[in-house]
Amino acid sequence: MAGQSLGTILGRAFRLRCPKCGGGRMFSGLLRMHDRCSECGLVYERDPGYFLGSSYVNYGFTALTLTPAYVTLHYAFGWTNTQLAFPLVGWVLVFPVFFFRYARALWLGMDVYFDPQSFEDPAESEQPEPPVR
Ligand SMILES: [Zn+2]
Repeated sequence: MAGQSLGTILGRAFRLRCPKCGGGRMFSGLLRMHDRCSECGLVYERDPGYFLGSSYVNYGFTALTLTPAYVTLHYAFGWTNTQLAFPLVGWVLVFPVFFFRYARALWLGMDVYFDPQSFEDPAESEQPEPPVR
């Protein structure tokens, strides 16, 4: 399998599709994940605790949305910290739940993008045996 472009990987992640083939759905429900891709058989959870790293992705996106919201509302619109506390705390509680699936899809997509060899089928990566003399 040749490496895939970053745009392809991101597109598949935001559509919650298999990062390897783009065909299979990664989730069967709001929080329930398929074990493997229905199209190519890619096992999504590669090891126990594999998706722990997706919490960093989720945290990063939460911070990336919270910070501009605070700066804009506080400095551009003059909201006080007291006025901002409840809406922004609500945001940091709701957004990660909404973004949970996307964070997992992005995490797996990053793995496929940065380490494509580990996702190759064994038959594809086998080298022909040298002739015996
Ligand atoms: Zn697949």
